[in-house]
Amino acid sequence: MEVVDSVEQMRAARRSLGESVGVVLTMGALHEGHLALVREARADHTRVIATVFVNPTQFADGEDFSQYPRTLERDLDMLRDAGVDLVFTPTPAMMYLPDHQTTVEVGAAAEGLEGERRPGHFKGVTTVVAKLFNLTQPTTAYFGQKDAQQVVVLRRMVRDLNFPLQLAVIPTYREADGLAMSSRNVYLSSEQRIGAAALSRALLAAQWVYDEGVRDPAVLRGAAMMALESCGGEIEYIAVNDPRTLAPVLAARQAPLLLSLVVRYGTTRLLDNCLLPGDLNIRAGLTATLGA
Ligand code: AMP
Repeated sequence: MEVVDSVEQMRAARRSLGESVGVVLTMGALHEGHLALVREARADHTRVIATVFVNPTQFADGEDFSQYPRTLERDLDMLRDAGVDLVFTPTPAMMYLPDHQTTVEVGAAAEGLEGERRPGHFKGVTTVVAKLFNLTQPTTAYFGQKDAQQVVVLRRMVRDLNFPLQLAVIPTYREADGLAMSSRNVYLSSEQRIGAAALSRALLAAQWVYDEGVRDPAVLRGAAMMALESCGGEIEYIAVNDPRTLAPVLAARQAPLLLSLVVRYGTTRLLDNCLLPGDLNIRAGLTATLGA
């Protein structure tokens, strides 16, 4: 496995990898969820590139950029074991020259949900992902369902700016009790960690009532809300949106829905989501539905 940290080395290394390349973009502090993306990329392509970059521009003011967990040596061991060919680990100074002045910004899809609560977040994401796509030139880029809005926003960017690549969306990888794996789970106290299992139970509760025939978004949200009563955190939002556009869904409809929720434990925000009907929460269903 080759590890490079400059833009020039990255370009040179990319040239020797050939046509069939899968890429997994990460902020490091890797866990099994990231490795699930790597495994899919490995299965589909001759070569796999991973990037590890804690991107300062996607952290809103007051967020955890300086405290974000950084475990590079361990990350590299995990990526090597998972069969990655090339890892790009730039510093912020290498990605953003002092005179950097170009950004990429997606419209409506980036405005609600997380975009509304984390000003500038998606502009930071789309700008760095555009740069990383240009540097890694993948055939397919792999993203996690957990960041469903990110998928919809990036799909829009890929279409609008004609990036020559496919996006694949991989189901959320979970702990045994259902908690979605996240680099930020390490911030939870043991009590919060136990309560946090309620997030995935809330998604299942919404799926059960959906399976009973309920389509009213208020009732679906109510089912999730009840299951969150024991979560021990503060419910920031439970939302039902159109998974293609992220427009809020206000009345019953038959088309697939995206139910997302955020619970806050102190300053730690935990996100989770599912598509309804529940059988869409597999790679094929997610890839064909989110932002499609
Ligand atoms: P991050 O390092 O948090 O920026 O995540 C890098 C990529 O891994 C993103 O596409 C995430 O959506 C994805 N990811 C994060 N957590 C999970 C998870 N539990 N299951 C699957 N993918 C995940």
